[in-house]
Amino acid sequence: MSRYWSQTVKNVKPYVPGEQPKDRKYIKLNTNENPYPPSAKAIEAIRQAANDTLRLYPDPAGDALRDTIADRFGLKRGNVFIGNGSDELLAFCFPAFFEPTGRPVLFAEITYSFYPVYAEFFHTPYRLIPVDDEFNIPVEGYFQDNGGILIANPNAPSGKGFSLEDIEKILKRNESSVVILDEAYIDFGGQTAAGLVDRYPNLLVIRTLSKSHSLAGLRVGFALGDEELIEGIIRVKDSINSYTVDRLAQAGAREAIKDDAYFLETRSKIIRTRKRVSAELEKTGFHVIPSQANFIFVSHPRCPGRDLFQKLREKGILVRYFDKPKINNFLRVTIGTDEEMNSFLAAVAEICS
Ligand code: PMP
Repeated sequence: MSRYWSQTVKNVKPYVPGEQPKDRKYIKLNTNENPYPPSAKAIEAIRQAANDTLRLYPDPAGDALRDTIADRFGLKRGNVFIGNGSDELLAFCFPAFFEPTGRPVLFAEITYSFYPVYAEFFHTPYRLIPVDDEFNIPVEGYFQDNGGILIANPNAPSGKGFSLEDIEKILKRNESSVVILDEAYIDFGGQTAAGLVDRYPNLLVIRTLSKSHSLAGLRVGFALGDEELIEGIIRVKDSINSYTVDRLAQAGAREAIKDDAYFLETRSKIIRTRKRVSAELEKTGFHVIPSQANFIFVSHPRCPGRDLFQKLREKGILVRYFDKPKINNFLRVTIGTDEEMNSFLAAVAEICS
């Protein structure tokens, strides 16, 4: 702690991302990365962009990529913002839409643990919506007075999602607040609200290419919303850093989004593996929360989460453990390839037997 730090930096407890280990080779099921490589077309576009254009700054607005995304969702360029990963985009949303002295922003008690970090950092008051033992969030929790709403749909780390019907209820009951839906995992089984953007000026949908498009290392996220909401985020970006998305990222992201065949193929492989692994784990006594994401959240009545995490690590398998009330007996396990998941299943069978 330095006496030169600001009060904000002194007080904040920064988010701790999942480990990227360097000590040995692990089967890495801890950060919800996609086990399959990105689209070959995206890699070729990145190679070309590196050869041709790195001398120059990127387009600060990223209009070519915005157009590709707008086309995909039947929207206009003005409805799309691109960011350096969805984390950065979420950070921009706090100063864009939430008041430091205002009413509390609502999010679930168990959700993406970056949300409270942003709230603390931007001095945004917040209120947590309690979840039940199965991590269900009552939709009525979002019917109270608030200064904004933030929902991961499907939620992390539970993998549970709201129906579109519930999302519409939340939007209708909160016309005076911005409702942000973080759809980082939507491609693996949730119901997207992207089609509602035209009808709800208070809706912002945030997506990422990190999970379903295998591009966590490229750092590209995007937001879909009413033109005026998007303009609000642009104002924040252009007050901090005009060039958040580099040339390689813009070029690669465009081709990845256009390569639908590859996206559909890898997505269905992950969904198939998730179903198989969930069923196998249930057979061996695990409690598996039904997941709409590329991970599963699991616990075992006789095999404490922390021990299991440690023992898996010793066997070269990394999963995510959260030492927090309500979830400290659970592990979040990213769905890897079938081969990786077979190793995981064999290891847990041995540890928990
Ligand atoms: N939202 C949720 C719910 C996540 O789990 C993650 C991944 N940690 C992100 C957003 C951020 O993804 P990225 O910054 O890679 O786009």
